[in-house]
Amino acid sequence: MVTNKGSAGESASTAAIDLRHTTFILGAAHPKQFPADSGWEVAIAGRSNAGKSSAINIITGVRGLARVSKTPGRTREINFFHVDPLRRLVDLPGYGYARVPVPVRQAWQRLIENYFADRRCLRGVVVVMDCRHPLTDFDQQMLLWCGHARLPVHVLLTKADKLSRGAAAAVLHKVRGRLVQEYGETVSVTVQLFSSLKRTGVAEAQQILAKWMEF
Ligand code: GDP
Repeated sequence: MVTNKGSAGESASTAAIDLRHTTFILGAAHPKQFPADSGWEVAIAGRSNAGKSSAINIITGVRGLARVSKTPGRTREINFFHVDPLRRLVDLPGYGYARVPVPVRQAWQRLIENYFADRRCLRGVVVVMDCRHPLTDFDQQMLLWCGHARLPVHVLLTKADKLSRGAAAAVLHKVRGRLVQEYGETVSVTVQLFSSLKRTGVAEAQQILAKWMEF
């Protein structure tokens, strides 16, 4: 099921999670380093340079929480963040443009597959896409894994400030249409426009996190 509805106007309880005290726990290069599989986690993925770190910082309201890098593809670890004693955010490593060395891509795939395979606390995955280059191979891989794991997906079409209002609306419509067609049978997907620069779409994204992390 693909929709952009259900993210606004949630009950007061779903909006009650306070993200402003989110802190870094650890970066894991191996599954052995993952924190205990307890409570709830929401993961955030995105191709390198899509705007994932900026989105994490804006959505949590914690400046500098995730590193906004000038060099695409620097991060190779899964970064875990403590939201409160029952909840974590998880920053999945993105990789960059088409010419990623095969060993790098394979190591990334192994690490993320391990994470998805047996993470009972995982409630949903936010996939950050640059609205000017949505649904890359990277994004499609993430959507397939989410489908296999039966995890809901929320797509942030970020850098929306780079497009006119009309062009951004057209991208939203087109991406939603493709998601319905290609993944609608297996994954529950919501889609929204987002801009870290203009801080648009922040409340909508926060509502999704609150909904997924609700006990
Ligand atoms: P990441 O590699 O996916 O974590 O992406 P970053 O958050 O590090 O952002 C990559 C680049 O895009 C940086 O130069 C950011 O300043 C820029 N950027 C991120 N989000 C936005 C946005 O919403 N609008 C604009 N105009 N630039 C953005």
